[in-house]
Amino acid sequence: MSQYADWFYLIAAILFILALRGLSSPLGARQGNLYGMIGMAISIVITYLMTPNAANFLLFGALIAGGAIGAYRAKTVEMTQMPETVAMMHSLVGLAAVLIAVAAIFHEGVQHDGIHRFELFLGCFIGAITFTASVVAYLKLAGKAGSKPLKGNWVKPLQAGLALVMIGFGTHYFITENITSFLAMTAVALVLGYFLIAPIGGGDMPVVVSMLNSYSGWAAAGIGFTLNNSVLIICGSLVGSSGAILSYIMCKAMNRSLLNVIFGGMGTGAEAGPAAGSGVQKNYKSGSPDDAAFLMSNADSVVIVPGYGLAVARAQHALQEFASLLAEKGVKVRYAIHPVAGRMPGHMNVLLAEAEVPYENVLEMEEINSDFATTDVVLIIGANDVVNPAAKNDPASPIYGMPILEANKARTILVVKRSMATGYAGLDNDLFYMDKSMMIFGDAKKVVEDMIKGLH
Ligand code: NDP
Repeated sequence: MSQYADWFYLIAAILFILALRGLSSPLGARQGNLYGMIGMAISIVITYLMTPNAANFLLFGALIAGGAIGAYRAKTVEMTQMPETVAMMHSLVGLAAVLIAVAAIFHEGVQHDGIHRFELFLGCFIGAITFTASVVAYLKLAGKAGSKPLKGNWVKPLQAGLALVMIGFGTHYFITENITSFLAMTAVALVLGYFLIAPIGGGDMPVVVSMLNSYSGWAAAGIGFTLNNSVLIICGSLVGSSGAILSYIMCKAMNRSLLNVIFGGMGTGAEAGPAAGSGVQKNYKSGSPDDAAFLMSNADSVVIVPGYGLAVARAQHALQEFASLLAEKGVKVRYAIHPVAGRMPGHMNVLLAEAEVPYENVLEMEEINSDFATTDVVLIIGANDVVNPAAKNDPASPIYGMPILEANKARTILVVKRSMATGYAGLDNDLFYMDKSMMIFGDAKKVVEDMIKGLH
């Protein structure tokens, strides 16, 4: 069997590459997913058949238990809980890397040559950092820990100090094969993982999630070297590099530096909270769904800006019905998607695709931004941070520099949300207080259903 294993692994690796290619567009995503599943099934079956008999029973038990937990989680997870689920899965990859490295170190009678020691050193510390960093990201994204960044002049020196101590222990292990140094390096890496993510503010979590995705890939590649498993090395490298590319794209979308993400310290420029001068009572106008429906049915052009609240309310199907009714009345309706709208990259595209919104009506930020000034009505539905003008004109704001959808330039602004509460980054939004803005309070789905009634 073993002489054929590498061929099967090669087929699996090709399927993983095709999966990534498919996933790069909503049109090819389903097929990409299918390729990925077939590739993973081949990898698992071959690895199982290659395992010595003594361990087969254990492996089978782990497969059944892991598969059952995964299937249950996939069935029950809400779309809005995906980011924290992904962070949790990254933490498991990190933990696996650490456990495998430690097991390899303690495996009796095995001599570790220089290259092998280097792989163990690298795979283990990346795995340990990924583990604790992902657990912190999970807690922040799931709302089980505050999204406020850990701040202070001591944070950066502490991060640098921990990194140096970790590398010091790792180098000592590399030279002397001292197991205590290896374990000390692992412990310091676990602490460093915490201090890399804790200083990052809520608004910057999307880049962190994709960066951890990349880390978990490199950790998996490290395990692949330790276990001498070629498909794990290839698959890990694919995840590592695609995660890094995604992080780069996200950084560009949010106007952040990639180095800042790697060394954890974004979004710490100012305290997240109400905008400057918010002690003063600010005035806003509110209206009913009927008012909103009337305004939009009399407009020539409407741009819809969906956000996280749309996903929570599962209002996408009602929204599509509403948009179709408007189009029947001759209104030009388009959707504007911010790259970090929602709680994970591509979140809004997936929701709109689910509601069968035509792709040609869904425009990215760069495509639509210049059109807002000539748009009659912009309907912001469950979105907040991605249209906050503070990102453009308040240098003290934690999201300053992040490109936004320039909805504030439209002639009339309608905002659907439940209250005047802040969005994920914890910031007040001056857009809501503009003379041309009108708030429509309520759950997004209920409001859209009422707007549909208002059109009839
Ligand atoms: P925001 O979190 O900024 O705003 C969402 C708004 O939706 C809230 O102000 C909330 O107001 C409203 N809302 C919540 N539930 C409902 C509901 N049932 N009906 C109507 N409205 C509702 O979301 P955005 O999409 O604008 O911005 C995304 C934010 O999340 C950014 O800060 C981004 O950086 C961050 N992020 C993005 C990730 C990504 O990869 N895309 C990952 C992690 C974080 P109210 O409570 O008053 O209803």
